[in-house]
Amino acid sequence: MDMQTSPATALRIDGARLWQSLMDLARIGGTPKGGVCRIALTDLDRQGRDLFVQWAREAGCSIRIDAIGNIFARRAGADDSLAPVMTGSHIDTQPTGGKFDGNYGVMAGLEVVRTLNAAGVRTRAPIEVAVWTNEEGSRFVPVMMGSGVFAGAFTLEHALAQRDAQGVSVAEALAAIGYAGQAGAAPAVGAYFEAHIEQGPVLENHERVIGVVQAALGQRWYDVTVQGMEAHAGPTPMELRQDALLAASALVAEVNRIALDRLPHARGTVGSLEVHPNSRNVIPGRVKLSVDLRAPDDAQLLDMDAALRAACARIAAERGLVIDVEQVVYFPPQPFTPHLVEAVRANAADLGYSCMDVVSGAGHDAVYVARVAPAAMVFVPCADGISHNEIEDADPAHLEAGCNVLLRAMLASAGVVA
Ligand SMILES: [Zn+2]
Repeated sequence: MDMQTSPATALRIDGARLWQSLMDLARIGGTPKGGVCRIALTDLDRQGRDLFVQWAREAGCSIRIDAIGNIFARRAGADDSLAPVMTGSHIDTQPTGGKFDGNYGVMAGLEVVRTLNAAGVRTRAPIEVAVWTNEEGSRFVPVMMGSGVFAGAFTLEHALAQRDAQGVSVAEALAAIGYAGQAGAAPAVGAYFEAHIEQGPVLENHERVIGVVQAALGQRWYDVTVQGMEAHAGPTPMELRQDALLAASALVAEVNRIALDRLPHARGTVGSLEVHPNSRNVIPGRVKLSVDLRAPDDAQLLDMDAALRAACARIAAERGLVIDVEQVVYFPPQPFTPHLVEAVRANAADLGYSCMDVVSGAGHDAVYVARVAPAAMVFVPCADGISHNEIEDADPAHLEAGCNVLLRAMLASAGVVA
């Protein structure tokens, strides 16, 4: 189909309607500071889900719930046997979350459906809007639970058996809010697009409206233990110490350097230090630290892994102590599907929006869906790059732009029946 000559080329979403639905949804779990606290599978999550389902039904969609509580709102296609073109995200939030993380992707999908309805456009393939269960992982781990089950990253049984701090299981919480749906194999998806706020400062710093997401960074997480020797801070001469914290400090600087040597996309972070015995007048005998390495491809991530292990071996040898490195988490890098990424870029350019290639440093539902279906993401800026915070904010014009790109990219995949 040629988008240039199609009447669909003139279609635009209603930015004011999109904004209003975001603000209406944000009232459920709204906090005094202007954020949202809508933790997965709580009664507030149920209220948010119910509102989405009501809006989707009013927009003529049929609703399907799967066994992990993912919601799929479907707008029929001219050929309903075709795999749907899907969009979506999540509406659960962090305890001090914002109005836009996840919620934008779901409301943008709803706005696409409403726009197609208002214009009387029939798509060849069906359109679906997904609400994925427990993306945030704040109450139940693992994170990205609903999309993870959908993509087969872990089993339904494993997810349902997870418990929160009060001992309530996912299965019990789903039943309690009335969203334990039908078990069964995940249906095929023709293409998946997810619109999301960037949650970082890159687009804003470059004054671009649309981020064309190339890939999600792969991640390797480690627990590192530095074993030295505790001794009295006074009587022990400087040259006779096995100071675990001093070695750990050298390692913190090395982790930073490992990423700086591999710009622009590599990341290296030590986020947690546990010092033993953590006493003012004792030379630290043991330090546990976390290391988080991220890179856009496996070759670079493996190179960083080797650099980390070499740095640990060198620091241990130089300082006469033992450093143990244990990898605890591995998420493979996830490239998005080239022709869908290209559709995002081409439509952004066609609509006259400034855009740039970016990578996603964070996990998203799209990263799991990309394991089982062609997938791409559309990023829009958020104010000062701040997210997972009650002050999270976004420009209505940017949200509108991202939704227009989403609409066009979905139409290009679904096809329009004249
Ligand atoms: Zn999110």
